[in-house]
Amino acid sequence: MSGKAVFDLFVIGGGINGCGIARDAAGRGYSIALAEMNDFASGTSSGATKLIHGGLRYLEHYEFRLVRESLMERETLWAMAPHIIWPLRFVLPYHKGGIRPAWMIRLGLFLYDHLGGRKLLPPTAVLDMRSDPAAKPLKSLFTKAFEYSDGWVDDARMVVLNARDAADKGALIMPRTKVVSAKRENGFWSIDTVDAISGQTASHQARMLVNAAGPWVDHVIRGVFGRNEAHNVRLVQGSHIVVKKKFDGERAYFFQNPDNRIIFAIPYERDFTLIGTTDRDYKGDPKDVKISDEEVRYLCGAASEYFSEPVRPEDIVWSYSAVRPLYDDGASKAQEATRDYVLKVDEAEGAPLLNVFGGKLTTYRRLAEHALEKIREAIGAKGAPWTAKSRLPGGDFSVVGYKDQVKSLRQRYPFIETRHAERLVRCYGTNAAVILGNAAVAGDLGRHFGGSLYEIEIRWLMEKEWARTAEDVLWRRTKQGLFLMADEAARLEDYMAGIRRAA
Ligand SMILES: Cc1cc2nc3c(=O)[nH]c(=O)nc-3n(C[C@H](O)[C@H](O)[C@H](O)COP(=O)(O)OP(=O)(O)OC[C@H]3O[C@@H](n4cnc5c(N)ncnc54)[C@H](O)[C@@H]3O)c2cc1C
Repeated sequence: MSGKAVFDLFVIGGGINGCGIARDAAGRGYSIALAEMNDFASGTSSGATKLIHGGLRYLEHYEFRLVRESLMERETLWAMAPHIIWPLRFVLPYHKGGIRPAWMIRLGLFLYDHLGGRKLLPPTAVLDMRSDPAAKPLKSLFTKAFEYSDGWVDDARMVVLNARDAADKGALIMPRTKVVSAKRENGFWSIDTVDAISGQTASHQARMLVNAAGPWVDHVIRGVFGRNEAHNVRLVQGSHIVVKKKFDGERAYFFQNPDNRIIFAIPYERDFTLIGTTDRDYKGDPKDVKISDEEVRYLCGAASEYFSEPVRPEDIVWSYSAVRPLYDDGASKAQEATRDYVLKVDEAEGAPLLNVFGGKLTTYRRLAEHALEKIREAIGAKGAPWTAKSRLPGGDFSVVGYKDQVKSLRQRYPFIETRHAERLVRCYGTNAAVILGNAAVAGDLGRHFGGSLYEIEIRWLMEKEWARTAEDVLWRRTKQGLFLMADEAARLEDYMAGIRRAA
């Protein structure tokens, strides 16, 4: 051993699971380092449908443990981060002779309402589609619909806020740092990393290693640990399209397709509709995943079965694609593979290793608690579970306090437009006022980059949230990429490069 500090834990992967484990562990007093080879949430954790949901569909696959845990988490997570998580009502249109009989949907929704954890979210309702405004954008096929509750989350922001909180609690957080090798030496882990920007190498020591590399988990087992064989995860691609707003109102739609799958159409970033997702096995490197023409046709076709105005490929303003790292349970169809997570500890040669397989955004906090139980057994206990009653940065306000937050931000900074204030509160919660600080006139926000992006926010993102490039800001820390023109994005990139050079 060198004289260097030995961390209790070293985490590979800055997606929701790695950052969630790092935050929980740091809060309990473990010393911890985390390496992410790109930007936080640049893997699967920014490519989700972004629901904090029980997973109504998983009931058909008898995943009661997962559904119950997920349902219980909805209100816990909402209270932890009411800026980036909020309730969403889903409208499930029904017509006779449809894919599933009404009794089955009723039974599913009854279980959904009663399996546990629902205190504030309203229960299922039945809608009369002859009069309900939810029928307006749809074909006139439906006389009835079911309406139920789940939640929405800004996935990429949930990841970075976990990383931020872990760092505030003492964790060493290293974005753009790839783990290239990890070996057991004298009862410890010796881990080599490469800085993706400078190419500099470094080595670290830890008592325990956590492999939370998501869809790369088997790559890490093979490439980093040098094992020949590893087939633990089934990679399943899912893609989404974003089109100009297809409907008014705040409710989302749940559409059933003839192939037994379902897709969602969700109000997105105020002016848009998010439609997804697909489910197909994926064989390549997860970083190369891209929506295919076939998926575009599938999503447009499926949504056009319901909307009276069809969704056409030329309506798409943005799309994204990601790979689910599902634990390989040998299911025949991609859509049937379990969505539950599996944690496996390997202590064969001394220093313990925890591999994380699967997991959802919704279950990340519970996954981290379960991981901490394994960590406690392997290297000894530190603090008790604490995250259930915690707040993510900026989330220290009431679950019903969003409107008041916007109002008080506008009172304090009257030169900010309502829409801008709303976005800031949605991104940063109570930290919106910290970002704006002593700004007294619009000019104090600094340079305007397009959309509602100003220099003052970019500086915060670079200083506090590890943003480095325009892409980090436009597509992960915010979704302002939907509102900026290409030349505006290029000017933002130049500006950020200037700050990097000066640093
Ligand atoms: C289409 C789709 C829709 C989904 N919808 C939902 C939903 O609505 N609700 C929900 O709850 N869940 C949803 N999920 C599931 C959820 O998004 C994922 O389960 C979750 O994001 C996985 O997080 P992760 O941390 O395990 O993986 P990732 O986010 O991929 O993180 C792993 C990280 O490890 C890093 N890494 C890999 N190798 C190395 C290395 N050698 N060194 C350093 N870093 C490395 C990668 O760069 C990556 O950032 C969806 C998933 C998909 C694909």
